[in-house]
This record gives sequence, structure tokens and C-alpha cells, in this order.
Amino acid sequence: HVDVMDGHFVPNITIGPAVMKSLVRWTSMPFDVHLMISDPDKYAPLFVTPQTEFITVHAEACTHLHRTLQSIRALSAVEYVADLADLILVMSVNPGFGGQSFIPSALEKVQRLADLRAEKGYTFEIEIDGGVGLGNIAEVSAAGVDIAVAGSAVYGAEDVGQRVKELVARMG
Ligand code: ZN
Repeated sequence: HVDVMDGHFVPNITIGPAVMKSLVRWTSMPFDVHLMISDPDKYAPLFVTPQTEFITVHAEACTHLHRTLQSIRALSAVEYVADLADLILVMSVNPGFGGQSFIPSALEKVQRLADLRAEKGYTFEIEIDGGVGLGNIAEVSAAGVDIAVAGSAVYGAEDVGQRVKELVARMG
């Protein structure tokens, strides 16, 4: 049981993700991570390790508790199968319709996947789908994306071929 305190949600500070991750070298026991912190949505991904069995949050710390729990579950689901995947797709809009704007937290997911891949030597490619265009493709690529799906950004252009070249050029 790992008590994580941030000096903000509770009046004490304990350890953060770096120390937590270093524990992997010292024990093979499962981690039950107790986040006594503000904004657990933002920080929960940092506490995912191959040994992280549970992540608990405080309801008072979550603006949308349901969403927080969904995203924590999604984190672990990907971790468990990452070694089997050739490709992991990160949705950067809510699935359903084209032409939506990019959800910025998708970049954090990409970065976390890129870190996981480097750390474990996994070979999956990272694909991003939704709201990608000239304005953000460089940033998306820098975060670790290998494959970017662009719908409206391509098919809304006057010259589709030219637009594809511009997008590819910005991926670096
Ligand atoms: Zn505790």
C-alpha cells in the first residue's frame, strides 16, 4: 500500500511517481496506490507500473468521479496488453463524428505510451485519431506519434495532395 500525499489535498507530503516507480526494482509485490492528491486525473497515469494492481482516489478530489475511474481502468487495460500490440490507437476526440476539436489530454496518453514503449522495449506503433491538422501535427509527432489520422484536415483542403505533403513535412 503506497500512500501518496501532495501537501495540497492533505497537509503532508510523502512520495511521488519517481520513487514509486523505483520500488519496482526492490519488490515484485503488487502495488495498491492510494492517491491522496488533488487532480488525480492528471497524475494517476504516472503511477502505472507493471505491478500497479490498484489505484484509489478520493471522491472529493475528483470533479467527475465516473470519468476518473473510467480513465484509470483504461490505463491499466492498455498496460496489460501492450506487449501483444502492433499498434495502439489513441482517440483524440470523442468517438463518433468527424470535424471535432482535439482533446489536449490525448497528448499525455501518447507521451505515456511512448515512455512505456521505451522503458519496456515494446515495438508497437502509436497512432492518433481525431482533430489532427496543420496546427498541431508537429506537437503530436513530437509526443511520440508514428501514425496520424487526418480526416477533415485533408479532405477539407482545396488541394488534398498538397495538404498531405504539408502534414507529412510537419511530422519531421
Ligand atoms: Zn493509504
